[in-house]
Amino acid sequence: MPSDQGAGQGAGQGAGQGAGQGAGQGAGQGAGQGTGQGAGQGTGQGTGQGTGQGAEGIRKGITIQSNKAQVGLESTSYPSRSLHFLHALKNSHQLVEQDVPQAKLKLNIIVAGAGLGGLATAIALRRRGHSVTVFEKAAELGEVGAGIQIPPNSSKILLKWGLEPYFKDKVVEPAAMGFRRWQSGEVIGLTTLVPDFRKAFDAPYYVVHRAHFLNAMYNLALDLGVEIKVKSEITTYDPDTPSVTLANGETYNADLVVAADGLRSEARKVVLDGKDQPPARTGFATYRATVDVERMRADPDVAWLLEKPVLNCWIGDMRHVMTYTIAAGKTFNMVLSHPEDSDPCTWKQETAVSDMKQHFKGWDYRLAKIIDMIGHTLKWPIVSGKPLDKWVSSSGKLLIIGDAAHPMVPYMSEGAAMAVEDGATLAEIINKIGSKEQMHDALRVFEKVRILRTGQMQEASLLNGKLMHFADGPEQRARDEGMRPEVEGRHYIESPNQWSDPVTQSWAYGYEAEKEMLEAWDIHLARISKL
Ligand SMILES: Cc1cc2nc3c(=O)[nH]c(=O)nc-3n(C[C@H](O)[C@H](O)[C@H](O)COP(=O)(O)OP(=O)(O)OC[C@H]3O[C@@H](n4cnc5c(N)ncnc54)[C@H](O)[C@@H]3O)c2cc1C
Repeated sequence: MPSDQGAGQGAGQGAGQGAGQGAGQGAGQGAGQGTGQGAGQGTGQGTGQGTGQGAEGIRKGITIQSNKAQVGLESTSYPSRSLHFLHALKNSHQLVEQDVPQAKLKLNIIVAGAGLGGLATAIALRRRGHSVTVFEKAAELGEVGAGIQIPPNSSKILLKWGLEPYFKDKVVEPAAMGFRRWQSGEVIGLTTLVPDFRKAFDAPYYVVHRAHFLNAMYNLALDLGVEIKVKSEITTYDPDTPSVTLANGETYNADLVVAADGLRSEARKVVLDGKDQPPARTGFATYRATVDVERMRADPDVAWLLEKPVLNCWIGDMRHVMTYTIAAGKTFNMVLSHPEDSDPCTWKQETAVSDMKQHFKGWDYRLAKIIDMIGHTLKWPIVSGKPLDKWVSSSGKLLIIGDAAHPMVPYMSEGAAMAVEDGATLAEIINKIGSKEQMHDALRVFEKVRILRTGQMQEASLLNGKLMHFADGPEQRARDEGMRPEVEGRHYIESPNQWSDPVTQSWAYGYEAEKEMLEAWDIHLARISKL
């Protein structure tokens, strides 16, 4: 089938170029395998912060090279696709990490918030032997909305932690992501996920019901020995002790407090010394809804959407509708983005379903049929933030992660994935230190690497909004023309579709968060040893 071939070729290139680009980006972030060429690529692709660090990448590249004889061929001084292949071969049999390296310095750590970010952080830290207590203000753990995508940069970490058995009967691994023209439903962009993403990034691209994901994380955390206290709202953060005080007046001290308290974070204010930078409204909102698959199955106009698990995204003027099946194929999930300037306080729940239908009037009749099957929807404001100057308090004992630190529009489906990377990298860098005195240094390195990575993802997410929301006209036609090769199975080296574009694909999904963090720590140590 021509369309399948197209996606196949595209992802193949992504994998191939991915290895090469990885070296470049790493150099740009000061943590790479860089050669002169790699450093140049990193600079070009970065947000600007990469530029000044390229030289460190080059130095790092030389160091690694001289160690090759001892450590084996971990990197090459030139962009290598073949080495990526060898790494993939090695890793494909080792999804779950055995013999988890334990921390030299065992800490008592408080995590604020049991959302996906808080639980990911708790799991990552507990695996390394730290004592972890999570405080959650809600009486029960829960998630707003239905489906969530787990891209490979996140799933790779989660599977390494051993999450697979906790949700394997709930996740869906879609075969592809198709972009469709708003009016006709014609496929205008196509990224093959199975087998291409799996092969390229050694991990699946999953979709899952949020409640199933959170539940799996909760159970893994409990099994590892994390203490999770619900109905425990933190009212005060003391960054110096550090400690948290709950609404019931109890105070808990720790060595470190990690706040994953979401978009309206109170901890962020403390970290930013009282000058909060909350995320801003973007002029867009989403309706989030699910549809009963049995109703869809009864209508031949839409039943075909259930034949094979695929992400389908209709894109048009200022709007898009992302759809996929979750709950092992039993529920059809929809996220319907549209322009919305009004204050969320004025939104009326009673008219949400009829307002939603108005927004997508005139769209593909098959999509309209599914929207007609929605009986209930939640309207959600889309907000976005800019990279903060810091995530760590001046005391070095309180930090923010997750949406509290890097709110982003959901158009790359990477918000929670960034929180998983945050947790994994925090655990990784803390593992390198042998004394509490080194903690502040480690957290500064953590902050620097993560602000760069998540700031770039904030940007990429905004860019997707721009790319998906063209009105019919010259820009839309140029975009569709740019995506045509991936649909028709022709050779391509770039695409306006960020899921297919080899460079963006490699940067977003091939990112090895823990490795980047370790390399940044080594660079830091090398720098201070010269002072
Ligand atoms: C429409 C939409 C679609 C999305 N799709 C995706 C996707 O496909 N893939 C993806 O990776 N991301 C996606 N995201 C982003 C993702 O949902 C978020 O980035 C992620 O859930 C943030 O997790 P968090 O733990 O940082 O914050 P939250 O989920 O907000 O958790 C914060 C927790 O802290 C608790 N809390 C707050 N204050 C206190 C306090 N004072 N004391 C104790 N507890 C407290 C809260 O009750 C809550 O449980 C999407 C977002 C939206 C809006």
